[in-house]
Amino acid sequence: MDLVNRQKLVKPYMLSVITAGVVVFTISLLNLSVYELGLQYILLMVITCSIGPRVIINFFRFKSCVSISDVFIFLTMFLFGGDAAIVLGTLETAYSSLRISKKAITIAFNAASMTISTSATLWALRLTFGDVAEIGRSEYSSKMIIATCAMAFSQYIINSGLIAIAGALRANKPIFTTWREHYIWTSISYFAGASAASIIAKMIGVVGFYAFIAVMPIVAIVYFTYLTYLKNVEASATQAEQAEQHLAQMLESEERFRSAFDHAPIGMALVGHDGRWLQVNRSLCEILGYTEDEFLGMNFQAITCPDDLGDFLTHVNEVLEGKTATHQMEKRYFHKLGHEVWVLTGISLIRDSQSRSQHIIFQIQDITNRKRAEEQLVHEALHDALTGLPNRAYFMDQLQISLEEVKNSKDHLFAVLFLDLDRFKLINDSIGHMIGDQLLIGIAHRLRKCLRPGDKVARLGGDEFTILLDGIRDASEAIEVADRIQKQVSHPFNLGGYETFTTASIGIALSNIGYERPEDLLRDADTAMYQAKSLGKARYVIFDQGMHAHAMNLLQLETDLRRAIDRKEFFIHYQPIVSLETGKLSGFEALVRWQHPERGLIPPENFIAVAEETGFIVPIGQWVLREACRQMRTWQDRISPDLSLSMSVNLSGKQFAHTNLIDQIVNILEVTGLDPRRLKLEITESVVMENIEVATRMLEQLRALGVELSIDDFGTGYSSLSYLHRLPIDTLKIDRSFVSRISENNENREIVRTILMLAQNLGMGVVAEGVETREQLESLQELKCDRGQGYLFSRPVNALDAERLILSFDEWQPAIFCADERPEKDVFPGLASTYPM
Ligand code: C2E
Ligand code: CA
Ligand code: CA
Repeated sequence: MDLVNRQKLVKPYMLSVITAGVVVFTISLLNLSVYELGLQYILLMVITCSIGPRVIINFFRFKSCVSISDVFIFLTMFLFGGDAAIVLGTLETAYSSLRISKKAITIAFNAASMTISTSATLWALRLTFGDVAEIGRSEYSSKMIIATCAMAFSQYIINSGLIAIAGALRANKPIFTTWREHYIWTSISYFAGASAASIIAKMIGVVGFYAFIAVMPIVAIVYFTYLTYLKNVEASATQAEQAEQHLAQMLESEERFRSAFDHAPIGMALVGHDGRWLQVNRSLCEILGYTEDEFLGMNFQAITCPDDLGDFLTHVNEVLEGKTATHQMEKRYFHKLGHEVWVLTGISLIRDSQSRSQHIIFQIQDITNRKRAEEQLVHEALHDALTGLPNRAYFMDQLQISLEEVKNSKDHLFAVLFLDLDRFKLINDSIGHMIGDQLLIGIAHRLRKCLRPGDKVARLGGDEFTILLDGIRDASEAIEVADRIQKQVSHPFNLGGYETFTTASIGIALSNIGYERPEDLLRDADTAMYQAKSLGKARYVIFDQGMHAHAMNLLQLETDLRRAIDRKEFFIHYQPIVSLETGKLSGFEALVRWQHPERGLIPPENFIAVAEETGFIVPIGQWVLREACRQMRTWQDRISPDLSLSMSVNLSGKQFAHTNLIDQIVNILEVTGLDPRRLKLEITESVVMENIEVATRMLEQLRALGVELSIDDFGTGYSSLSYLHRLPIDTLKIDRSFVSRISENNENREIVRTILMLAQNLGMGVVAEGVETREQLESLQELKCDRGQGYLFSRPVNALDAERLILSFDEWQPAIFCADERPEKDVFPGLASTYPM
């Protein structure tokens, strides 16, 4: 039968039970003789309806309970017979059903079920034992016991069966299952009720009905006492249950904590207030290398790095005293193998609820890798990657510390050495940067070896190194170290198969000048180093105040030079070059002059070196070249196109090394329209010899343009004579120093003679520079020197005077070489004295 169909049966079923119940009830009611029942029955009815449904005896922990109503129904059956019991049962059930349901059909059904079951019980008893009331009045016997059981059984089976059928139909479940689930326990209620009823019936038989009623209040007191007892029992049972639950929860939470503790990916430990490890987890064992047992035999103090211990203990105490709830710090532990392990440790307090003692929870995270990376970054920021030496930033910090020390103790003295390698650029450019790097590493290594403990060496960059000599007695100690360094550095290096030599120029600055800032000390050591370079390199110079003024001056000059070209502060003087044989004017040398707006006329020796160093010489030299070519071309235009005078222009080393030089010259010649053969370029001997191969190539290119080439200041440098013949040189200019002393002794004269012979053999011309006296002129003439240049003939003059000179050339020429009463110096009286340069 499907679900809907079965549910449809509920109502018909209930109605049929009700109908049967009404019939039975009516018959029973008719059978009753009110007179027979009397006051006792009515009293029992009132008691049943008023207290029956209210009084329920629970069987502790059992699903069922006994309603007092059952007792009264059975009792009625014993005392007044079956029909009286049916009426009472029906009315009582209807009355108590009213309390749990408002539906009339339900109330009627419940009442009818009771009517039918009580009636069935009655008939069962009648069929077995005859008159039921007789049983109640009979002796207490086995008959009575059997009747009681039978009564309870039939009442139970039929009443519960009728109700179970309705429930099963409504819930669409098998009847037996429904009955077993909901009603099996109710049997107790029936059996207990029946037994109580039979005992009470016996009692009434002995004491009488009214005595029994009089006992009721006592029974009520006992009942309510029982109820109170039951409540207490239940309350304590609930409490016990709650305690049990709480314990289970605690155990569970402890288990959870333990599992979280044991399996945490970070180190965890429980530590006593004395620092002993009480409990450690697996991660911590892995981090620090100890086993759990080893940990438990130690305290944390024993494996904390001593530098971090003081701080950490302070924080632990703060947490123990409750001043802070938690604390976190980075610290170091010692691993079992001895090395340091950086950890981030978090600590917090926990109280043991049982022992009330205080423990600390440590959470320990291994941060060694992060720390190493940080240290590496800091190291890289403060060190030079190539040599591993401290860098400028680090050195400046050290310098600052030393300066502070000087401020605190006046006797404290220290020195800063500023070291720059000589010729490093040359090595780097010619042998290559790889070898250059190797050389710097080698130098760094040797510098370290030269220092005393406590001294600091740093690489500032390029080939510059600085050394801090702290706590020295006096300057001599710094000099000793500088000497030692110079010796060490000058030993040859074998780098990649090349035997490489270098020297160092060292500037020394001492702390006793009263420095405030580290930069100033370094600047002065640098200035002294430049001084050492300009004094010929491979030496040391100690800084003094004069040098500072000089350095400031140079700095100013540098700034001014930068603006001089744009402001057109340069101009050129021309100095005649004369044929010593004929006295004829053979050409001019262009010499640059600087008219400084505040300082007045500045001679080349005061600014050419600075211009060379700063690179300004390139644009300046270019300007001179263009201006000199333009001037010569102007003279040709103005005087004669056949004017075959040469124009000598000085080329600096920087210009000579400039890759654009050839293009620039081609351009200048094109723009000015000067015949290349009229232009003579002067390059000093040292520039050519510095890198002879590159110079040779450059000279050849220049020669190919058609310009002539002179070697300037010949004799002052170290010429490789074997190379000289290969160079495309037209003229050697003998340096003034030889000419000025030519008549002093034979030796100088012999040098000049040798140069002249050499030039002759190589097919080169010679110009003697700085001819000042007639004796010098005569000596040179005797030695058959081609040409001369010097104050004897003319000082450098401006363009206008040079032009006048060219024009008066014919008058002038015989005057110097022929006339007996020619003047000693003033060949051109007007010119030589006007331009004292
Ligand atoms: P330098 O090339 O050897 O030039 C000759 C120098 O000797 C000139 O000095 C000249 O005035 C000086 N002089 C000439 N005759 C005599 C004499 O009889 N007695 C003495 N005591 N000196 C004499 P100046 O003009 O002062 O130039 C000095 C140096 O400056 C030049 O030496 C040259 O090396 C450099 N210089 C001058 N102008 C230029 C230029 O335009 N470019 C470059 N790169 N260097 C230049
Ligand atoms: Ca020159
Ligand atoms: Ca010269």
